[in-house]
Amino acid sequence: MFHESLFSIEWTLFDGGACGVISDAAWWVFETAGQVNDAPRASTLHPPTLEMLSDFGLLDDIIARGLLAPTFQFWDRPTRKLVAEFDHGILKHDTDCPFVVQYEQHKLATLCIERLKAFRHSEVNFQSPVTAITDLGDAVEATIETSSANRSVRGAFLIGADGGRSTVRKAMGIHFEGYTFPERFLVLTTRFDFAQAHGVGFRAYFSDPDEWSALFKVAGSDGRGAWRAVFPTVPGQSDEEVLNEEATEARLQKFFPKSGPYEIIHRNIYSVHQRVAARFQKGRVFLAGDSAHVNNPLGGLGLNCGIHDAVQLANLLSSVLLGKRPESDLLQYDAIRRPMNIEYVQQQTIANKKRLEEKDPATREANFETLRKTSKDPVAHRAFLMRTSLLESVQKQSGP
Ligand SMILES: Cc1cc2nc3c(=O)[nH]c(=O)nc-3n(C[C@H](O)[C@H](O)[C@H](O)COP(=O)(O)OP(=O)(O)OC[C@H]3O[C@@H](n4cnc5c(N)ncnc54)[C@H](O)[C@@H]3O)c2cc1C
Repeated sequence: MFHESLFSIEWTLFDGGACGVISDAAWWVFETAGQVNDAPRASTLHPPTLEMLSDFGLLDDIIARGLLAPTFQFWDRPTRKLVAEFDHGILKHDTDCPFVVQYEQHKLATLCIERLKAFRHSEVNFQSPVTAITDLGDAVEATIETSSANRSVRGAFLIGADGGRSTVRKAMGIHFEGYTFPERFLVLTTRFDFAQAHGVGFRAYFSDPDEWSALFKVAGSDGRGAWRAVFPTVPGQSDEEVLNEEATEARLQKFFPKSGPYEIIHRNIYSVHQRVAARFQKGRVFLAGDSAHVNNPLGGLGLNCGIHDAVQLANLLSSVLLGKRPESDLLQYDAIRRPMNIEYVQQQTIANKKRLEEKDPATREANFETLRKTSKDPVAHRAFLMRTSLLESVQKQSGP
């Protein structure tokens, strides 16, 4: 259900030369959809995530098909003036990857599935929704609906990485605490080159009391490059009202006016939430990624945090399965990951949104001043990026 998590577990076990110990084991991924979802969602991979993916030998592929984005910017949208720019290069003594890579989520999922094929004990099943889970005490059983008949699979542990609407979380009766924003987010993808025309960096946030926005460049499937522009919608607006050609063109023209229409190659609209599961583990069942926590995408932290969940859970589970640690250590997953998500991901993404949509002129100016000062002071600049990139959260955590 969560390709990256299974991949991590596979990799940890087999890379550690422990193949024989678990020779009878099998690892299954069950995915409802028929294929990887290629909707424009996550694109930003932060330094600690790149380090983790580098441990799996994936970094070269990611860099080859992604875009290096060492800096990110804050703009004042009404005046179209750059307020501050931050450079991950300042983290060169903190990480082997002092940069961000813009790499679309569907490319990462596809890459991981491809690599999983090398592990003979793994099995990735599409069109296979998990419909029921039974914790048997010493094992866990999942029921999967297939086109012909229901299938039952029994294993030692189950990871529910089935997204914000998680069937696993609901089946375990775990509350998803938090709230949903009244407005939705619109994502428009265009070929227009905002870097060339306006000096916009590959990751840029635009504060505006009326309509904040954000711009991200991705390589795109053909490597030609595309820009994703994110805007809030007015609560209550229908999909048609938001997504129709006239409305989307008007939105981009208001953002950066230009002669001739924008070439819009994709339009999408999302509901946005800030929610954290009341617990990340119940018996033999774990939650990882969006099934455990969801947040607004400003800051690009959701998928990154999900990958961190997966890697840390994989390390714990493999140690337990290999008999290196007692099963009671599995409790550390919830004890560490849940507060980590609240402290770093929830708090930061809520603050990012608040800063972009701030309406009070004095508070806006004070925010800008803080950003300017932070960017100009090397110590504050580094501290800011340590936090926003999640490096601080990863380093703070001693285990598991
Ligand atoms: C516009 C936008 C931009 C974003 N940008 C960033 C970014 O730059 N960086 C970042 O870190 N994050 C970003 N995010 C967040 C990121 O996309 C999510 O955090 C990420 O998709 C979570 O991955 P996941 O695998 O946990 O859940 P999902 O991507 O939701 O995947 C869950 C999978 O489980 C499957 N499934 C559901 N139910 C079942 C079932 N019963 N049985 C089997 N399979 C099932 C679904 O079909 C789906 O494929 C962004 C999100 C949006 C909307």
